[in-house]
Amino acid sequence: MDFELSPETKMFRDNISEFCRRVIAPRWVEIDEGGRIEQDVIRQLASQGLLGLVLSEDYGGQNGGFLEAALAGEELAYHAPALSLAVLYLLQNSWPFVVELYGSEEARGEVLPRVCSGEALVGIASTEAHGGSDVASVRLKAERRGDKLWALNGEKSMVSLPSIIENMPWGGGWVLISRTGKIEDRHNGITNFLALMKRGGETDSSISYKPWTEFARRGLDTSIVTFNDTLVEDKYRLGEVNRGFKIAMEGFNLARCLIGAVTIGCARWLLEQGVSWIKQREVFGKPIATYQAISFKLADHLKELEAARLLCYKAAWVADKYYKEKREGFGLRDLAYLGAMSKLKCASLAFEIGEDVMKWFGGASYFKELPIFRAWLAVFSYVVGAEGTENMMRLIIAREALGREYV
Ligand SMILES: Cc1cc2nc3c(=O)[nH]c(=O)nc-3n(C[C@H](O)[C@H](O)[C@H](O)COP(=O)(O)OP(=O)(O)OC[C@H]3O[C@@H](n4cnc5c(N)ncnc54)[C@H](O)[C@@H]3O)c2cc1C
Repeated sequence: MDFELSPETKMFRDNISEFCRRVIAPRWVEIDEGGRIEQDVIRQLASQGLLGLVLSEDYGGQNGGFLEAALAGEELAYHAPALSLAVLYLLQNSWPFVVELYGSEEARGEVLPRVCSGEALVGIASTEAHGGSDVASVRLKAERRGDKLWALNGEKSMVSLPSIIENMPWGGGWVLISRTGKIEDRHNGITNFLALMKRGGETDSSISYKPWTEFARRGLDTSIVTFNDTLVEDKYRLGEVNRGFKIAMEGFNLARCLIGAVTIGCARWLLEQGVSWIKQREVFGKPIATYQAISFKLADHLKELEAARLLCYKAAWVADKYYKEKREGFGLRDLAYLGAMSKLKCASLAFEIGEDVMKWFGGASYFKELPIFRAWLAVFSYVVGAEGTENMMRLIIAREALGREYV
């Protein structure tokens, strides 16, 4: 076992880090406060090859590995810890990959190069108002209209990206999880489509959205998205009819590996802020870092951060073995298990670290003049639910350990 990155991977990470330091770090607070990622920032991410990094060169991607994607995600989040950019980035390195795996040649050729060039975005539309955790219960209906079309009707209650997609030069949309079988068929009645809200600069008027008001991670919106007799050509179907559940889980697994990485980047930034503060803040005549109530907490957090990072890198490494190297002995269940662990461990750790760092800053942390709250609360989006709640991650891990009959 070798814990050292190859010289090429190290150089890649260092280049991304330098780009983020120069271009991204000066703007992250403005993005969070303004509630908007401007187009020029998206173009800059694309120019570094970060959008669709893991996609094939045939579609304009870098054919990068998921470990590289994790390293880049960590750097991006470290330099922009309010996470909007990191979320946009990780979505473009998980859901378009699902399109590459299961989309028709026509759909891939049309959309993926535009993701890589920063002209289009692809996210995920899964959650519905009756309970996002139970993906097998989705109700949004897809029904055949003739041989070549499907009609989508229904609502997704929390979907990231719509207002950014509306402003993209070409457009974009979501991997949409829909009901094609009977509701009691559950997993066996689900089909996925690439549902484009904007295509070739034209917005589809049958898709509307209403943004939620977010208290953090404000650079991108999360909205209720309604599909009102939206017509989708069959060429945008992803995989076989009624076999979409497992395909959707592949996207979630990959996203969860990368969520681990971006929340680690965020935690790293939070801890650095904390360390520099506790070394200089003197109370009762000496730096508060000299009080063991504080330094022991720091030691625990550093230990956990190291362990969490290794877990997340391992999940990404397994994704590379399975998808990129097609190595025997690595399967989707390994990825589901480690992806769930990566998200569960890293996001909750980053949130705990954020809470302690806020406390180390005392009352000053409560005011918006200090940016720490932006990172802390951004991580909370992943603790409460985005791409699966903590309990759902536990359910996946326990199911793997105990067998389906116990969970
Ligand atoms: C900022 C943000 C962005 C998001 N972006 C997207 C997006 O782009 N696309 C998208 O599709 N969704 C998105 N979501 C939604 C997210 O995926 C859901 O919030 C998540 O899947 C949980 O669904 P829910 O909120 O309906 O909670 P519910 O499913 O109603 O769960 C409520 C609580 O019950 C617990 N629970 C449920 N079942 C069990 C069980 N069997 N055992 C133990 N506990 C259980 C859950 O863990 C949770 O704590 C986003 C959410 C947030 C906060």
